[in-house]
Amino acid sequence: MIQKPRGTRDFIADSALLREQITSAFILFAQNMGYKPCQPPTFEGVGLFKRAVGESSDIVQKELFYLKGDEEKYALRPELTAGVVRALVEKGIKSMPKPVNTYTLGNVYRYEKPQKGRYREFTQFDLNSFGEQNAFSDAYLIANIYSLLKKIIGSDVKIFLNTLGSPKTKQKFANELTDAIGKNTDKLCPDCKLRVASNPLRVLDCKLGCKDEIGDIPQISDYLSDDEKKYLDTVVAFLKDNGVNFEVDDTLMRGLDYYTSLVFEITMPDDSSRSAVLAGGGRFDGLVAQLDGPDVGAIGVGLGLDRIVENIKRREVKQKCEYIICPVSEEYSKSAYKIALQLNQKSKSARVSTAYNLKTSLSDAVKGDCQYVVIAGEETKNNEVIIRDLKKNSQEEVSIDEL
Ligand code: AMP
Repeated sequence: MIQKPRGTRDFIADSALLREQITSAFILFAQNMGYKPCQPPTFEGVGLFKRAVGESSDIVQKELFYLKGDEEKYALRPELTAGVVRALVEKGIKSMPKPVNTYTLGNVYRYEKPQKGRYREFTQFDLNSFGEQNAFSDAYLIANIYSLLKKIIGSDVKIFLNTLGSPKTKQKFANELTDAIGKNTDKLCPDCKLRVASNPLRVLDCKLGCKDEIGDIPQISDYLSDDEKKYLDTVVAFLKDNGVNFEVDDTLMRGLDYYTSLVFEITMPDDSSRSAVLAGGGRFDGLVAQLDGPDVGAIGVGLGLDRIVENIKRREVKQKCEYIICPVSEEYSKSAYKIALQLNQKSKSARVSTAYNLKTSLSDAVKGDCQYVVIAGEETKNNEVIIRDLKKNSQEEVSIDEL
């Protein structure tokens, strides 16, 4: 038997339905905020990911799925933002009215060691906003995502928040951190040993806890300018005012190179080590220019559908069912399918039960939460059917055209 590739999953019936219902909620949420869809391709030139995510990031170093290309090497996208920015730059973001607010839903691919919550193919939902740079709009986005996740999951979630300051501040802090790590480099994990040279900030974010080996860690807050501090304070005050469960964590750095200024991660409240982050994001003010576009600031968030689904409390999914059409015998099958066709053409949900046994069909209808049972028998010869309303507990004979 041929089996699915490692790190992938099949979603069939209810599990797929649940995912569809959540993605519909994502899309409705984004559209209510005035965001518009942006759908870049699933694979891009490898150079894009190297420049955007960072040549030395784990994602580029270890996790890209390569594809054969004609001239350039391609890779399946390991995240969505790089493709969105590339697409907007190519389309001329410079002359678009700002802010440019986009949402993107799609599968992404990372060649990771598969385990629960960590797959090789998974689904992200991204919101990205370009050309607006104020603390209130950033805090509004975070507060909104918080409410959305709470509603979908059915319990509280928690936001961890930090600021990396401007690229200059980030660089100054990185230099200090490199010095602080100094003679303790030997105690770090093999990945972090390499990170010291390429992006020392990632050592603080190491899931193996390498930051505990450093000794005295410099604090990012000591390097922030007054404006950068004020910006974080404004975000914090807005989140407090609006009942968001959050904590400022000045060791939060994120694994992708393009973040500057505000960064955040969202987890279940009991996941203090942030081992299964549900969503993460932050500002990436330099990325558009870095990918040959204009100097446009941006903020984005990526929600991981798979981890969100795994934490949902109420997993009951119901597919809409209005009508169940029950031919009393095979002789009335043709009429039953014709009635179903007419209802479907009117955008009503209807299906035929071929049990030819009213008791079985009725119990099917009750289980499927169907409201109407249409009995197709002798009456269809006069273009009529018996319709039973299970919610009102009533029954009448009606003309088929009235359904
Ligand atoms: P990242 O781009 O790494 O910030 O990831 C954004 C979100 O995608 C995370 O918060 C997770 O919810 C989800 N995610 C990341 N990697 C995986 C994976 N291998 N499998 C499933 N979900 C993932």
